[in-house]
Amino acid sequence: EAAINRIAAGEVVERPASAVKELVENAIDAGATRITVEIADGGKTLIRVTDDGCGIAPGDLPLALSRHATSKIDGSDLLNIHTFGFRGEALPSLGAVGRLSITSRAPGEEAATIRVAGGRMEPVRPAALRAGTVVELRDLFFATPARLKFMRSDRAETQAISDVVKRLAMAEPSVGLTLRDVSGGGEGRLTFRADAETGDLFGALEARLARVMGREFTENALPIDATREGIRLFGYAALPTYSRGAAVAQYLFVNARPVRDRMLTGALRAAYFDFLSRDRHPAAALFLDCDPQLVDVNVHPAKSEVRFRDPGLPRGLIVSALRHALAEAGH
Ligand code: ADP
Ligand code: MG
Repeated sequence: EAAINRIAAGEVVERPASAVKELVENAIDAGATRITVEIADGGKTLIRVTDDGCGIAPGDLPLALSRHATSKIDGSDLLNIHTFGFRGEALPSLGAVGRLSITSRAPGEEAATIRVAGGRMEPVRPAALRAGTVVELRDLFFATPARLKFMRSDRAETQAISDVVKRLAMAEPSVGLTLRDVSGGGEGRLTFRADAETGDLFGALEARLARVMGREFTENALPIDATREGIRLFGYAALPTYSRGAAVAQYLFVNARPVRDRMLTGALRAAYFDFLSRDRHPAAALFLDCDPQLVDVNVHPAKSEVRFRDPGLPRGLIVSALRHALAEAGH
C-alpha cells in the first residue's frame, strides 16, 4: 500500500508547485475566501496552506488521507466535475512522499490534527484552531530520493509556485490569495498578494487581472464575452498594438481550471493572424465555461491538459469572438 502510494504520488506530484496547486484547489473547493500559502526553500522543505473554508470533522481526517476517498463525487457522477478535486488522490500522494499534517476545524466540531509521513499515518489528536484548515507539507520527496534529485533550484521552484498561485488567483477573483516565502524564518517575504475582489463578473475579473498581469494589460485589452452552442468564452484579450515584448502572457482556463493546451493557444494565434508576426504571442486571459460533459479534464492527473468532445467548437468560438471584438475596436 505504501509503495503503491509512492508510485501513484509521482504522477500527481511532480514538483513543489504541483503540491501547491492541489492544496490551493482543495482550499477553493472548501469554499475558502482567504488562502495563504507559505513556502520555504522553493517549497522543498515547507509548504503550508491556510484557509478559512469549511474544515474537516475529526472523524473525517483519516478518510481525507485515504486513497480514492473524496467527499466531492459519488461514483455515478464521474463526468460531472464541477469542483477541482475528484480523484481523492492528492492528500494520500502528498502523505506518501513527504511529511504531511492537516489541522482543521469544521463548524460545531473540535479542532483536530492528523499526520502522515512516508505513507505512515498517525492517530488523530486534538488541536487548537479557530476555523478552517492548515495543511503543512514538509520535506517533499524525502521518501523518494530519486524524485528529490530532479528538483530544480529554490529560485526556479519558487517561480513555478508563484506561477501556479497567480493562475489560480486569476481563476478565482473572489478569493483572497497570499504567497509568502518564509525561508528566512519569521513573517517571511511577501511574494504575491491579491485581496478578494468584489463586484460583478467583469469588474472583479478586470481588477484581478490588473493585479496579476498589470494595469498596462487591462488598459490595453478588450473585454470578450460570447456564447455559442453551450460554450461561453469570456475574459480579456490584448489590442494588437499592445506589446509585452518577448514575455508570453497567455492564460487560458476551462471551467475555472488553468490549462495549457495547444489547440486553444493555436486558436488564439489564429484570431490574431493578421496582426502578429509568427513568433509573437498575443496577451490574453480567456475563460471557457461549458457543460463538464463536453470536456475531459481527466487526461492527466496534473490536469492542465483538456480534451474537448468537439475541438472545432471552442476553436471556432475563440477565433470568431476575438476577430469580432478586434474589428469592433477598429482593427
Ligand atoms: P479530492 O480533492 O480529489 O477530493 P484530496 O486528496 O485532494 O482529494 O482531498 C481529499 C478530501 O479531503 C477532499 O475530498 C475533502 O473532503 C478533504 N479536504 C482536503 N483539503 C481540504 C480543505 N482545505 N478544507 C476542507 N476539506 C478538505
Ligand atoms: Mg484535491
